[in-house]
Amino acid sequence: MLSLTLRDAQHLCWKNFRKINDKLDPVRGKKWTPFVMVTDLLEEAGEVASVVKGLEGFKPPEKPKTREMLATELSDLLYMVFVLAESITE
Ligand SMILES: [Mg+2]
Repeated sequence: MLSLTLRDAQHLCWKNFRKINDKLDPVRGKKWTPFVMVTDLLEEAGEVASVVKGLEGFKPPEKPKTREMLATELSDLLYMVFVLAESITE
């Protein structure tokens, strides 16, 4: 069984983030800053909130939300927490 510490997970998220953005940064002409990372983290928190509102019946029923969507958005949020945490210790 694979045993992963939170620190390991943080490092893996950072490696994944670097792998993606080492290619995208030159195309974009800029790198992610901690400010942009915090903004992205807040955006993901908003996506979590949006799904919860949908699950609780406070969103239009045309676009139903699912618990799987909530799990995905929570993962997105945690990913950015890990990326931000690792970035400030680089
Ligand atoms: Mg998301």
